[in-house]
Amino acid sequence: MKNALIVGSGLSGAAAARALAEKGYRVQVIEKLPHIGGNAYDYTEEGILLHKYGPHIYHTNFPAVHEFLSRFTEWTPYAHKVVARIDGKFVPVPFNLTSLETLFPKEEADYIKVVLSAEYGRDAKVPVFELRAHKNDVIRKFGDYVFEKIFYHYTVKQWGRKPEALNPDILKRVPVYTGYADGYFTDLFQYMPVKGFTTMTENMLDHANIEVILNEDALLLFKLRDGKILFNGKEYPGAPLIYTGCIDALFGFKYGALAYRTLRFEFERHGRTGFQPAAVVNYPNEHDYTRITEFTKFTCPPQKHTVIMKEYPGEYADGDIPYYPIETPDNLEIHAKYGAEVAGYKNLIPLGRLGRYKYINMDVAVKDALAVAEKL
Ligand code: UDP
Repeated sequence: MKNALIVGSGLSGAAAARALAEKGYRVQVIEKLPHIGGNAYDYTEEGILLHKYGPHIYHTNFPAVHEFLSRFTEWTPYAHKVVARIDGKFVPVPFNLTSLETLFPKEEADYIKVVLSAEYGRDAKVPVFELRAHKNDVIRKFGDYVFEKIFYHYTVKQWGRKPEALNPDILKRVPVYTGYADGYFTDLFQYMPVKGFTTMTENMLDHANIEVILNEDALLLFKLRDGKILFNGKEYPGAPLIYTGCIDALFGFKYGALAYRTLRFEFERHGRTGFQPAAVVNYPNEHDYTRITEFTKFTCPPQKHTVIMKEYPGEYADGDIPYYPIETPDNLEIHAKYGAEVAGYKNLIPLGRLGRYKYINMDVAVKDALAVAEKL
């Protein structure tokens, strides 16, 4: 029987483990934390499913990913909606025509709508950068307004950097809608796992060929030396090592530390049924937190109380949890050196947000994991 070692039991590690186990590999999954599931970990408290490490909302356009995950969970259809508080009003995000009508005087809103409609038609998704670079003055000014009210301050708070320093793909995740649609995502499949992401991951890892070891720091177990993986002091015999932790830590930071953003969460319990007008409310221009998530607004039936979570971003330092790789040119340059180093190890496969140093969604994590398993 072939062996495989997987570091990390988040969605990347768990999906790879399952796919390899089904190919006949004997898989060991080593997890540093006392629980599986990585940052998608959730748990139930007084009947409400809480996301310990920030809101995770599943959406995908990849049928193969959806088919795979559907073997491990039942789903509740869930169309995620977000509003932002702008100048004391709640408006849909992505910014849409309702947002426009709420924030602009009627005549001006009507005029902008006509101009947008002539240029893009209804229901287009336009990156804010495109609006800001448009040759038409009205569209450009509108783009500047949306950038200032929705993106600029939120991004500085979230990333500790100005938008122009960041990969433009980050802001493209949240376009501007030229219609009234108010869903945060437009994917083909938008659901939440009925019993949560932890249970889904548990089911994925529940296979005779998979052993999960919790509370074990893999970096203390193996060493990388001159193209060889040493496990407990002995050369790890030709088996794949799938690593979903921070790639800079794996190599002892030899090319320098990569930057990450961390988050601090404040949970609050409120003795009433609803706290806010949407599951997630963004605060681009006020407070130190970026957003408040209300967990009872995901898929939970109404309760007598509600639980919310405020999300405070900060720069990652040793001992924090890294949530977001910061793909700026200087970090990508450092990352390329680690990438070249990885290429010297035949059996080493970095995966996931931290392994690949890439801001990916849950579905892409699963898609990548399945592709790796398929190749092996
Ligand atoms: N963003 C913003 N204002 C918003 C929502 C998003 O500026 O109201 C920007 C911000 O830079 C954020 C990025 O768009 O980091 C991606 O947002 P998304 O909601 O996809 O972030 P995630 O939920 O992955 O943290």
